[in-house]
Amino acid sequence: MLSVELVLRMTSQDVRRGRGTIPLEWRHGKTHSIMIQAIDHLGIAVRSLDEAIPLYEKALGLKCLGREEVASQKVRTAFFDAGGVHLELLEPTAPESPIAKFLTDRGEGVHHVAFRTDDIDAQLRQAAGAGVRLIHEKPFDGAAGKLVAFLHPKSTRGVLTELCALKPGATAAH
Ligand code: ZN
Repeated sequence: MLSVELVLRMTSQDVRRGRGTIPLEWRHGKTHSIMIQAIDHLGIAVRSLDEAIPLYEKALGLKCLGREEVASQKVRTAFFDAGGVHLELLEPTAPESPIAKFLTDRGEGVHHVAFRTDDIDAQLRQAAGAGVRLIHEKPFDGAAGKLVAFLHPKSTRGVLTELCALKPGATAAH
């Protein structure tokens, strides 16, 4: 976490640079109230869940917790638990799926890192205030009963970064 002192120093630098839109949280040095709670899961792009699931089950002894189709992202997912961090295998369901494009460009492999937060809107505002390009300004329904939003990898050192939060009143399906 950023210390209050660091936040205040960054704020004064930003003021000197003449930036006019410093988020309220920064101006008041309150970024410490926004919490990344954990790495929630790693997203892994695969061509076929049916081929990839047995690999994780047989080679690593992990148990598949369930499958789910996320229509908004044109993917089918399968989740595994690895000591509290989940693996989210992602198979495209259509040629225009972002996962299909990823597979064409880069092949199978790690697709994104997802951080769990208790305040996804505040987390998005903080990222935007730090100059990060948001793919989604507003969170949307993702897999496993969560709200999700992505940060653009071009502004996060090449790592597609997901923020996720349990929907109010929801308990994680997996
Ligand atoms: Zn994800």
